[in-house]
Amino acid sequence: MKNGIITRFLALILALSSIFLASCNGEKKCGGNHKDKNDDGFCDNCNRLVLVYFDLYALNDLHGKFSDTDSQPGVDELTTYFEQARAKNPNTVLLASGDMWQGSPESNLTSGNMMTEWMNRVGFVSMTLGNHEFDWGEEAIIENEELAEFPFLAINIYDRDTNKQVEYCESSVVVELNGVTVGIIGAIGDCYSSISPDKVEDVYFKTGDELTELVKAESERLREEEGVEFIVYSLHDGGTNGSVNYGTSYYDITLSRGYVDLVFEGHTHRSYAKPDDEGIWHLQGGGDNDGITYASARYNTANGNKAVTEAKFIKTNEYYQLPDSPIVNELLNKYKDEIAAGDEVLGTTPTWRSSDYLRDVIAQLYYEKGVELWGDEYDIVLGGGYMSARSPYDLEAGEIRYGDLYSIFPFDNNLVLCSIKGSDLERRFFNTNNSNYYVYYDSYGASIKNNIDANKTYYIIVDSYSSSYAPNRLTEIERYDEPVYARDLLADYIKEGGLSH
Ligand SMILES: [Zn+2]
Ligand SMILES: [Zn+2]
Repeated sequence: MKNGIITRFLALILALSSIFLASCNGEKKCGGNHKDKNDDGFCDNCNRLVLVYFDLYALNDLHGKFSDTDSQPGVDELTTYFEQARAKNPNTVLLASGDMWQGSPESNLTSGNMMTEWMNRVGFVSMTLGNHEFDWGEEAIIENEELAEFPFLAINIYDRDTNKQVEYCESSVVVELNGVTVGIIGAIGDCYSSISPDKVEDVYFKTGDELTELVKAESERLREEEGVEFIVYSLHDGGTNGSVNYGTSYYDITLSRGYVDLVFEGHTHRSYAKPDDEGIWHLQGGGDNDGITYASARYNTANGNKAVTEAKFIKTNEYYQLPDSPIVNELLNKYKDEIAAGDEVLGTTPTWRSSDYLRDVIAQLYYEKGVELWGDEYDIVLGGGYMSARSPYDLEAGEIRYGDLYSIFPFDNNLVLCSIKGSDLERRFFNTNNSNYYVYYDSYGASIKNNIDANKTYYIIVDSYSSSYAPNRLTEIERYDEPVYARDLLADYIKEGGLSH
């Protein structure tokens, strides 16, 4: 109730301020040239209110979570929530800080198009690119960029050939909010190595001091050339382990000394709203549709003073009781042919299956599929490698839909036959200390494991993520002649009753 009154009061101030600002242009006392030396929010000459309030909302790491599922809220209530926010205060912007597409059947089966179209409909003003926007290569980014009615931002993604910023990204976007000019600068973090190398071979990211210099220069340009008064930094990188690590690896604290006024973050899937040592707020809203971050700001049009008056993380359960927006169903309907595959029931499992269990199964399927094609020519030691699982991570007992597998194993990494030196085979695959490595081998592999020759060359089956990950020291011999992805192997296995007992 209290909030409602405050909100209505702010809306009233806003409405009044725009009327006063407009009418004051004709004022003889100051000629619209307001001054507010004592910073009380009123012009010293004409006594008009000179404050503008505006609201900023940001979404990060949505990972394509479009529809409600048993484990996951969709964007239907969020859409309504944002429509209501904009109705309360027209000076409202919504932006995204990366990893928006990858991770659900609806989003993946449309290569991000449905997500991008949802962002158009909801009125996003920008989207900073995240590492997972590269999962389907640059072509999918370009296709979505053509569909998007808002710019993709990343000041630091460069083309290797031209040494220029890539054409599908802008450095910033400028938004007018009732007389206040807000600039949003976007950057991707130091997450190049978390992208499958073959998907980013034509680009590189400027990070560290180089990135800081780019952001500072853009901040100065926005203020000098475009009259920007409030600068938002939308960064696909963020704090970890509950702390926000300002001024260390991912954010240069000198940016908080006059270059940016507010920072929306992403990538680490943490939720926080915290000011740094210079008083600049940093916000991140978890991941996989945990919620949304919000900041309210105030700008004094007479003296240029500005402040973030409120900043917080708003969890999904604060708005999930709102009615569903029809936009979500309209889009599900529009794309129904493309996304139909996600509804296919593959089979059942009588018990809950952990992602560890499923990844062990996939390692075995990698091995078997690889042996089928290459087993006559090569003595294959094992199948498997690094395997990431995503939200919701596991399978509940009962029916299994193809879409469930799509969410847990969304990545399009094909099977590859590789050679590897004995010492690396032992260190990276048989005795790895990385808990995300899963391997399967039969009696031949077991005999090699017990009697490995450090200098001999062996043959293994991995996927293209593991094969192109340099520390694995693998040499690719051949990729499978058709796309063979983890979720599809698992889907066939389930169809044959593989998890039914
Ligand atoms: Zn993410
Ligand atoms: Zn990310």
